[in-house]
Amino acid sequence: MPLNVKNRRKKRGTQIVVTALSGLLPVLLGLVILYLQAERALRQNTELTAEEAIRQFELMLDNTAQAAQELLPLAGQNCNDVKLALREQVTRRPFVRSTNLVSDNNLYCSSLFGDYQEKVDPGDYTQGKLWLMSGNPVTPDTALLVYRLSEGKQGVLTTLNGYHLSNVLRLIGRKALLLLQVGPHWLSADGKVHDVALPDFAVAQNKLTSSRYAFAVAAGFPEGETWRYMRSEYPPLFSLLMFFGVVSGSIGHVLQMRAASPSREMQRALEAAEFVPYFQPVVHGNNKQWSGAEVLMRWKHPKEGLVRPDLFIPFAEHSGLIVPMTRSLMQQTATLLGPLSASFDGPFHISINITASHCRNLELVEDCREFLGAFAPGNVHLVLELTERELIEPTDITLQLFEQLRALGVMIAIDDFGTGHSSLGYLRQFNVDFLKIDQSFVAMIGVDALSRHILDSIIELSAKLDLGIVAEGVETEEQSDYLTAYGVNFLQGYLFGRPMPGPEFINALSDH
Ligand code: C2E
Ligand code: CA
Ligand code: CA
Repeated sequence: MPLNVKNRRKKRGTQIVVTALSGLLPVLLGLVILYLQAERALRQNTELTAEEAIRQFELMLDNTAQAAQELLPLAGQNCNDVKLALREQVTRRPFVRSTNLVSDNNLYCSSLFGDYQEKVDPGDYTQGKLWLMSGNPVTPDTALLVYRLSEGKQGVLTTLNGYHLSNVLRLIGRKALLLLQVGPHWLSADGKVHDVALPDFAVAQNKLTSSRYAFAVAAGFPEGETWRYMRSEYPPLFSLLMFFGVVSGSIGHVLQMRAASPSREMQRALEAAEFVPYFQPVVHGNNKQWSGAEVLMRWKHPKEGLVRPDLFIPFAEHSGLIVPMTRSLMQQTATLLGPLSASFDGPFHISINITASHCRNLELVEDCREFLGAFAPGNVHLVLELTERELIEPTDITLQLFEQLRALGVMIAIDDFGTGHSSLGYLRQFNVDFLKIDQSFVAMIGVDALSRHILDSIIELSAKLDLGIVAEGVETEEQSDYLTAYGVNFLQGYLFGRPMPGPEFINALSDH
């Protein structure tokens, strides 16, 4: 049955996908949470690092500013008189590299050279206060930060060695990258001064500006740091995630297996040909000769024994397996009875039960054509029984289906008639041939007046509509006599024969 194999493969594919998803989802969710957590940790890191760097640089600048403060009163005085005072500051203050006096924008006295002459441009200084230089004539390759303090025409310049600055960048920003920015220039941890735009950090960028001096600090991490951080910090959590993934995947798998088990079990049974036809004779009302048989499904379960159809047909309908199951039943019936059909005198009625699932497409037409093809032409009438409990919708496709079935000579019976509510219009629309009176009404013959009244009405109605009538569940002579007296054409029930397996039915057939 290629159709079923295909369905099964599709189902198994879906199961694998669902199992994989139920295992992967918690892992992916966990990874996302860990990723966000790692990003947060890195952001905290750069924030603390930048704060610490600001503190350190302010401490150094305080040192330089104090030297300038002390020297300011000397600015304007003769260089020879004050140069020792300049040198004293350089010696006493750990971060001060040189001190210089300015008068009228002219650097005229330096701690290193004494008398000196150099123009000073206050525009070089950010906010008039700080200038980050890549070097000076004495040490052209060493960065230095110049602090400018001025009052009127007098001023002091004190310088801070870039070596101290880059040291702070290196030591504090051990994990993060750290930069010191002063106006348009910035210093990196390798001691180099750059005057291009400050670079952007891909991860956890944090920029803090000093509230006391004209500088800022930028901290951050290069691309990919979040994953690197996760790899180095979270291995135990990864193992836990994997564990959860496996547990959740297994739960998903088990739940699916449980949910899918009835239809899987039936699929297996279908492939193992465990669904077999039983045959119950239907007799003529007048002479009680066998006029046909209803095919009733049985499940020959390897462990449970013979299973009644009402226990598994609802599952089969629900899972859509009823269509291939019925097809198999029809094929088995044709194989069993086909070879005998030449010996039937008069057309033998074979009834098959169908459901709403059969009416969703036109497949049933082919199944019926194949079935009829197994019998001598005209020797068999195929009757499809549709229960009144679940009436089918008259849609385009169903009307087309019943038209094609009619063209094939297939007949339609409404099963369990009296228990549902089919209208006259419905009976006409689907060109119904037989009504099968539900056994509950037959059982009430001689017991309940009201039920008998309904029974009488059904018999009358079918006569008026020119429909054949079959009474089901005939168990007693009294019922049989009553129904015959009222002109019921066909009778079915334990009184005439129970549903029986194929070989037994074939044996009995020759006696009737
Ligand atoms: P149904 O189509 O109304 O079939 C008649 C049921 O009444 C059968 O039960 C039959 O064994 C039982 N029966 C016949 N004569 C008597 C009698 O004198 N007294 C009593 N008490 N019962 C009698 P079964 O075979 O157990 O089937 C039960 C139901 O399962 C069927 O009711 C039908 O609705 C469904 N079924 C059976 N085979 C198939 C099938 O191949 N396809 C579908 N779709 N449904 C099926
Ligand atoms: Ca039936
Ligand atoms: Ca019935």
